[in-house]
Amino acid sequence: MIVSRLSFLHYRNLREGEFLPDPRMNVIFGQNAQGKTNLLEALWLFTGGRSFRGSRDSELIAFGQDAARLQIDFFSEERDQSAVLTIQNKKRSAAINGVQYGGVMELVGKFRAVIFSPEHLSLVKDGPALRRSFLDGALCQLRPVYAKLLFQYNRVLQQRNALLKDIPRHAELLDTLEIWDEKLAQRGARLIMERSKYVCLLSEPARRVYEGISGAREQFSICYRTVSGEEPQTEEQWRQYLFDLLGRSRREDLSAGFTTVGPHRDDLEIRVDERQARSFGSQGQQRSCVLALKLAEAELLQTLSGEAPVILLDDVMSELDSGRQDFLLHQLGEKQVFLTCCDPETAARYSGGGRFEMEQGRLTVRQ
Ligand code: ATP
Ligand code: MG
Repeated sequence: MIVSRLSFLHYRNLREGEFLPDPRMNVIFGQNAQGKTNLLEALWLFTGGRSFRGSRDSELIAFGQDAARLQIDFFSEERDQSAVLTIQNKKRSAAINGVQYGGVMELVGKFRAVIFSPEHLSLVKDGPALRRSFLDGALCQLRPVYAKLLFQYNRVLQQRNALLKDIPRHAELLDTLEIWDEKLAQRGARLIMERSKYVCLLSEPARRVYEGISGAREQFSICYRTVSGEEPQTEEQWRQYLFDLLGRSRREDLSAGFTTVGPHRDDLEIRVDERQARSFGSQGQQRSCVLALKLAEAELLQTLSGEAPVILLDDVMSELDSGRQDFLLHQLGEKQVFLTCCDPETAARYSGGGRFEMEQGRLTVRQ
């Protein structure tokens, strides 16, 4: 997957214009608050995902404007393609190769990218939410049906939670809870199956990358951990198990006012030398774990989709020691990379490809 052009209009602080990237390495440097991350975020939005900064859609539109428009030309599936993303009235819509869609779901799986930013460095040590969103994000791009499934699961979950809050005031609603338990168990079972299959697939490339970083001195492993610790095998067994579990947790859920069990509480367990990296890993080991997961995500996307994703590295190089930086760049091989950093000296280290300076939302080619 190669991006040959990105243009923007009224997007964040980026000046109206276009960016013609190099097919391999693109280094975007500039001082703080100039628009480097905004540029990477613009590319990322074409994956169909939300902003990796957690921003609302309306925040993407330049101050004082009422709509933003982004366009990319890219080469994928052996042909030139294009996509337009419009953000207006608090929602996004997309056109792909001239066909207009009401939302952005259709973009999922068409344009693929892997983002690695400083926030990911706390993937190992923070709570499980970040690790679940790592799994969900990776799976959405790999299997667009997963994006729909996740959306449905979350919608049912919200409805069940709303009901849990209403029941104390309207006792007659208690009878309807079981219908939501059934729906949640059915979608939850599929979600768990998809996630645990993905973790199985990710495990080997991640182990291999970690071995490379640690010089084979340490053992790395991952596994999908459900909140209950149970491990039924089939989707039907999971459905039944979750349904029973929701029934057993009913009293607790009613007093908490939300659903306390299910895949929205699960975790990706990461171990180094058999010990939980979250509790026992050193800072360096935790960083190596994140690097291994991110690189394995990119490798798996390439193996399973037959095409390398675009790599977005937002300001991570300064956070890694030179050994890990070299390892990362070496592993990325032939992929198209967009790398941001602050100072021109760091930028000069990555020779070859394109060098661009971002100043107040304006991008200039520098050689
Ligand atoms: P750093 O090196 O600190 O990470 P950066 O170059 O990555 O900086 P960005 O985060 O890309 O900086 O850009 C931040 C700038 O974009 C800020 O000055 C911010 O005010 C501006 N900005 C953010 N959202 C909008 C918007 N909707 N409209 C106009 N400007 C915006
Ligand atoms: Mg930034």
